[in-house]
Amino acid sequence: MDIICEDKAIIQPLNEDWYGKRVAAIDMLRLDLVHPVISGNKWYKLKRNLQAAKDNGATQVLTFGGAYSNHLIATAAAAQLNNIQAIGIVRGLYAQNTPLLTLQTCKDMGMQLAYISTADYSRKTEPGFQRELLAKYGDSFIIPEGGANDEGRLGAGDMALLIPGRYTHVCISVGTGTSFIGLRNALPPSTTVLGFAPFKGNNDFSSVIVPHLNNKTNENWHIYNNWHFGGFGKCNDILLHFMNGFYQQNAIPLDMVYNAKMMYGIKEMATNGFFTPNARILCVHSGGLQGNSSVQDHLDF
Ligand SMILES: *Cc1c(COP(=O)(O)O)cnc(C)c1O
Repeated sequence: MDIICEDKAIIQPLNEDWYGKRVAAIDMLRLDLVHPVISGNKWYKLKRNLQAAKDNGATQVLTFGGAYSNHLIATAAAAQLNNIQAIGIVRGLYAQNTPLLTLQTCKDMGMQLAYISTADYSRKTEPGFQRELLAKYGDSFIIPEGGANDEGRLGAGDMALLIPGRYTHVCISVGTGTSFIGLRNALPPSTTVLGFAPFKGNNDFSSVIVPHLNNKTNENWHIYNNWHFGGFGKCNDILLHFMNGFYQQNAIPLDMVYNAKMMYGIKEMATNGFFTPNARILCVHSGGLQGNSSVQDHLDF
């Protein structure tokens, strides 16, 4: 069932000049390269969900996402490749009448889209509401938004198999936190796992993360949201300039929603002496480059 090409997930050392040689190494795990559509962490969160759907005899999966959701696109592609029907429940009625690349790509891959109001969308985990959806769209295996269930977290842990033991820190972007949890549970406790959340405000990440850690006494992790650049999906000239500079020095494209903000934060931390000089840092490139379509005109890659 493996449909990605893990061999392409190389570990690429970043240019020392970029991070100012204040640490022993900053490398990037290029999960953006594993598949043209299902990039980054998304396949890992989906694979056990699709297996569970098959094991349950389901011929259809139903999942949730916003109008720019990398998860919806990845689900559409992975379902198509596995000959499973896919229903995508899209947040916001406005999206129905707006031509959006993400949603068009989902449709092109055979996903049936249904648009619901943001009020209804907030009920997406309620069993009663889910029963209504199944009655309307047919019996389905439900994959939560972002693949945020046990299957998703366990599958995300398999990303750790690609990470050699020499790293002191592993960094990953945080949306639902599913990938972060999977990595934290699968990496040795001695590795510090740092999460970077591109959300504004005082989010209580520990209430989302801690219940799913398999060793609750392992405190060797932290989530930062200092580098949100105005909030989720928001971008400005400073970030675009940073992305172009990063590409120039490292030949790696970053997405503006997640990875650019994470790398901006890591650079600032490294420059400010947050890490000890012997730190070896691995940044997981979680893909998501299709999210750059709205700012493509400003990018050199
Ligand atoms: C979905 C996504 C994330 C967030 O993953 P979670 O497991 O939901 O925390 C991070 N980066 C990119 C590029 C993504 O598409």
